Amino acid sequence: MDAYNLTFPSSYEFCSKYEELLQVCQTALDAWANRREEAHQLGLSGKELGDELVRLQAHFAKSYAILRNHTHECAFCLFVATGGNIPVDGPAVTASHQTQPV
Ligand SMILES: [Zn+2]
Repeated sequence: MDAYNLTFPSSYEFCSKYEELLQVCQTALDAWANRREEAHQLGLSGKELGDELVRLQAHFAKSYAILRNHTHECAFCLFVATGGNIPVDGPAVTASHQTQPV
């Protein structure tokens, strides 16, 4: 069974830094969503709760922005995110022996 992991890597296998940032992002999102759900169920409201939710949302937005930035700055994640379509040594047209249609 282990061989399948190697043969078919998930398209979401980013680098370890990405995994770390994703975890932070997910945790922040969960905290925000859970608090919102809790407030809704308990019928909570008020400025204090509003401020707390805004803070949690801001925390999530910030972690998400950092995550997004990473995928643009990290060569490995950029490669994965684009499906490996970035040519390493430029467009691979020189390897072709085909005659160009004129
Ligand atoms: Zn990365």
